[in-house]
Amino acid sequence: MGLRSPLGVDVRRHPRARPLASRRSQVRVHSRRSRGIGREIECGIRSPSGGEILNAPLEGGCACGAVRYRLTSDPLIVHCCHCLNCQRQTGSAFVINILIETDRVELLAGEPQPVSVPRSGGKKQKIWRCPTCQTAVFSEYTRLQIRFVRAGTLDEPAAVAPDVHIFTRSKVPWVTLPDSVPAFEVYYDTKKLWPAASLERLDVLTGAK
Ligand SMILES: [Zn+2]
Ligand SMILES: [Zn+2]
Repeated sequence: MGLRSPLGVDVRRHPRARPLASRRSQVRVHSRRSRGIGREIECGIRSPSGGEILNAPLEGGCACGAVRYRLTSDPLIVHCCHCLNCQRQTGSAFVINILIETDRVELLAGEPQPVSVPRSGGKKQKIWRCPTCQTAVFSEYTRLQIRFVRAGTLDEPAAVAPDVHIFTRSKVPWVTLPDSVPAFEVYYDTKKLWPAASLERLDVLTGAK
């Protein structure tokens, strides 16, 4: 299974694939998966005694440290988007977006500023950047109540892995996708793919419940 592309791009969870930064050396990442997607993600921080694992929310920030955020719950879903917009915006082959309710992205420091970025079809997308170092930390598409947090800005980017690959029609050929993760040429049917708990959260956001 293509856990690692020929160029070493790791698109799957691989907690031991890289040494943890010393500051985070006490953190270990684990997950529980009730089904193929919608796993609950937690960072467990060892207690000083070294035994007990205490749950801690995912945190991240910009390159200069002025912007810091915390995700106060599990994501709704994690996208790996291979669309040309994401490739251009990031200067990379794809972006990893953590979809989560806007009010579950708790700002700990700084104030990311929204920038209107053109994307195909004449639409615009808001991307929030650190006002100092301009690192993009999250973005917004059509639903204001959902943030797309860029997983590469997590302190521990390997704490999440894509639940789904989208817009694979423009995927660069040297990225090999794992068979175990759903992949779509363009997009997917939310009702069919999202776990029940995430759909319930979506209903709350849209006022369906
Ligand atoms: Zn910054
Ligand atoms: Zn995209």
